[in-house]
Amino acid sequence: MSEEQRKVYESSPGSAVMFNDAGPIPGNERRLWLQGLDITPHDFPYIQPLISDSYLEWLRESAGTQAMRKFSWALLSHEGAWLTGAPEITEYVHASEDETLTHALRSKEAAQGMGRGSLEGRVLCAVPLFTRVHGDFFAVMVSVASGRMKPEQSLMLTETYALLFRSCFYRQMEYIFAEDLEKVHRQAEREVQRRSILFQYVKRMHVQINVDSVLVEAIDSVLALYPKAKVELFMSQDHESVHPLVRPLLLHHWQEEVYVRTFMEGSLTIQEHEEPDTLVEIGIPMGGKQGVYGVLHVEVDKSELPEMDLELLGMMADAAGTAFENAKLYEQSNLMIHELRMINELTQRLNKSLHLAEIFQFANHELLKILEADYCCILIHNEELGGLEVVSCNAEWLAKEVFEKDYGLGGLVYHSKEPLILSDYQEERPAESRLMESTRSSSMIATPLMVNGEVRGVVLLTHAKRHYFSYDSYRLLQALTSHIGLAIGNAFLHAEVRRMANRDMLTELYARHYLDEMIHECQNRDFCGSLIVVDIDEFKQVNDTFGHQRGDKILKQVSSIVKTTIRHSDIPARWGGEELAVYLPGLGIQQAVQVAERIRLRVAEETDPRVTVSCGISEWNWTNDKISVESLFYRADMALYEAKNGGRNRIVVERAEAEIGMD
Ligand code: GH3
Ligand code: MG
Ligand code: MG
Repeated sequence: MSEEQRKVYESSPGSAVMFNDAGPIPGNERRLWLQGLDITPHDFPYIQPLISDSYLEWLRESAGTQAMRKFSWALLSHEGAWLTGAPEITEYVHASEDETLTHALRSKEAAQGMGRGSLEGRVLCAVPLFTRVHGDFFAVMVSVASGRMKPEQSLMLTETYALLFRSCFYRQMEYIFAEDLEKVHRQAEREVQRRSILFQYVKRMHVQINVDSVLVEAIDSVLALYPKAKVELFMSQDHESVHPLVRPLLLHHWQEEVYVRTFMEGSLTIQEHEEPDTLVEIGIPMGGKQGVYGVLHVEVDKSELPEMDLELLGMMADAAGTAFENAKLYEQSNLMIHELRMINELTQRLNKSLHLAEIFQFANHELLKILEADYCCILIHNEELGGLEVVSCNAEWLAKEVFEKDYGLGGLVYHSKEPLILSDYQEERPAESRLMESTRSSSMIATPLMVNGEVRGVVLLTHAKRHYFSYDSYRLLQALTSHIGLAIGNAFLHAEVRRMANRDMLTELYARHYLDEMIHECQNRDFCGSLIVVDIDEFKQVNDTFGHQRGDKILKQVSSIVKTTIRHSDIPARWGGEELAVYLPGLGIQQAVQVAERIRLRVAEETDPRVTVSCGISEWNWTNDKISVESLFYRADMALYEAKNGGRNRIVVERAEAEIGMD
């Protein structure tokens, strides 16, 4: 036996250990290595079964020979213990007082003699048997001749049959050895085949970057291995597969289910059924590095179980788990890249505009497109109107609507400051919703619109289908909305800065440059307009008497009177110092005089300490040769000058055409 063969042989489970290799037999090197196999004294205590088998074989083979039938046979160990043989000589052998036998055992030579006791009168022979390579004495063959047989003839025949037995014994031994060897070989072959299956399988798994393809591959590979098995794959997530054998694993399923148990415990589970008693269920966890994702559930007939390679199935499920995990990561990173790209595009576009209306319009359009929704509605809290105003909505009938702050799903999100996902409005209705009702929607995702850390509104998206929006779109809406909030914040800020730049801080009237711009615009647009310049009389003295701070207050009082006396479309401004101006678009001088008069009267009545004002008024209309802001101001100023000269607390129109008002 070669070193290689010996290793295979010795490592194989179930092989008989009693056969040792005796190495090449001197002078017999050309024999087969199998023939060099032999037993040694260490094996002697274990050879009884082999001797018994060989004995029966030998009996069968020799049954046809004449001489055979003239004897009864038995085999004893080299120590004289009974191994096997004809029952009628058991007693005799057990007594083992026979000289013949004793002689054979001691001298290890063939012996003959006359039987005693029950064998009285019969010839008895004992022939020692030696191992084939080393010649160790390992057994004794005993024969008891029946009837008339000469002792010499009897011994000769017994020796011949003993040799025949030994051949039979060694042949049996070689059979067993060959059988063991074949078993080892089959196992090795199976192992090779299994590795090849696993290798091919892992190779196929490795190239899958799509989650569903991994699942399909896993099931189909198991089915290909065990076509008779009933295979299912229970997944705790991503169970929407093209493969009909992928099923959702819901943990509220009956806890006793094999696949639920396998998932919970994360280890292989085998359950033999009592009803029907031929059924065996096997649960194999499909796990990756970060957890168990599903369970491969296999049902087979009990008779098939020994043939199933559960270890291989376990390795296949593990490979599927890892591939699933990788594909999942790949999908997620793709999704993330996609989301980032969209956020980036949206932000870039949003930041191009500082006009709120434009931003709302664009955001609405983009959200509908990106999230593939049916309707989008953006609500902003409007303090003046005291509610949530629809600033943009593709359900036109809702545009410009103002809802109570507490109303509907928008109100819910606005107050809770929490996003919302609703998969079936008909089933689950946390609040009434005009949007959902009027658009006949079933699904909704909504999120609060945060501007500078404060909830300023709500974004709502709907779809007619139930369970339409995924958790990913819900998350994406939040990300997109935070960017919309930023753009709105910028637009708010911009509007505020512009408002501040156009306002006078003390009087909260418009600044002079703004008035200039507006008059200029009006002159390009309108047919006519008037300008009133209002100057507080003797204001220096007021300051001197009451102090500058009181003076400021009076200036504010007068400004407030001016503001509340004019129309919404008129433009009040601080022209400089304690001089104010009001431009009245579209009004002629007569109407301007009336406005100025109302101001003059109210100032005289309402200020405290009481002050009066003088007004100068100028006008322009489209028939004038030269229209300019400067000329309008100049003429009003001239009129004011005249009013002052005329005694103050009065109104003078340009060119002193009219003069009204007295102390
Ligand atoms: P009149 O116009 O009637 O000819 O007399 P007046 O005293 O108002 O004369 P003038 O226009 O020369 O003086 C304007 C005064 O208004 C000078 C300044 O003390 C005061 N004044 C101008 N701007 C402010 C202001 O913002 N606050 C206060 N308290 N006083 C101001
Ligand atoms: Mg003055
Ligand atoms: Mg003045």
